[in-house]
Amino acid sequence: MSQNKTDGEVIFVGAGPGDPELITIKGSRALERADRVIYAGSLVNPELLKLCRPGTPCHDSASLTLEEVLALMLDGTKRGETIVRLHTGDPSMYGAVKEQFDYLEEQAIPYSVIPGVSSVFAAAAAVKREFTLPDISQTLILTRLAGRTPVPEREALAQLARHQTSMAIFLSVQDMGAVVEALLEGGYQASTPIAVVAKASWPDEEVLFGTLETIVAKVQAAGIRKQAQILVGDFLDPTGGYARSKLYDPTFTHEYRQGTDR
Ligand code: SAH
Repeated sequence: MSQNKTDGEVIFVGAGPGDPELITIKGSRALERADRVIYAGSLVNPELLKLCRPGTPCHDSASLTLEEVLALMLDGTKRGETIVRLHTGDPSMYGAVKEQFDYLEEQAIPYSVIPGVSSVFAAAAAVKREFTLPDISQTLILTRLAGRTPVPEREALAQLARHQTSMAIFLSVQDMGAVVEALLEGGYQASTPIAVVAKASWPDEEVLFGTLETIVAKVQAAGIRKQAQILVGDFLDPTGGYARSKLYDPTFTHEYRQGTDR
């Protein structure tokens, strides 16, 4: 039970990848009724803050420590505020949300999470591809290169690459050479298609298509160093070689449709 008797709450909201129309209706309604907003200013589109009531205090968390963010949550909810914590994309991917959840649990402050459109899906939309094609890959791996945050050895990119699935790599474009090296080491062919999507869904979105052989030079030439998704795998190949779906095959019977004889 709540030790901190309060009507305040914290709502974690996925802001989506950038385009302000890509927040959910539920997320935008939370912003409309927020008493205070803490947003990840480095990636969240500030246009979204216009959904708030005029005068709503909005704090950019880019320059704040975890302790400062938590203090804003504690003080605000004590006063009964509804606080929206706005995270880019979907909060569950590289959102640093667990440490906030844990603190709120400790303090018995009620909180909830509203999902968002991750940049991985905005990137797939930008390239107009499907990650899961029959006979090509039925699995999508979401990962990153180790940076200042380490990646467990068993999940090293070269290890994951051995599965030859569709892959989306976050937080790694600044080290494109190392990404390609690990993918080749893991066994992807040099001719494997790869795409880099920078600022997916923003007006200045950029899409580069290449192969493991050509992409490093293209990324360098374009000067892309951050805020990009790296998509890898044969699902990107426009000429395909995939099998068509069973679900929409006229001869295939399922719960909602009787198949015809060939
Ligand atoms: N929770 C976010 C990811 C935060 S980590 C999400 O679900 O998208 C930040 C990384 O996400 C960036 O380094 C980049 O790899 C990716 N990213 C975020 N926004 C992006 C965008 N609009 N286009 C491409 N990549 C993006």
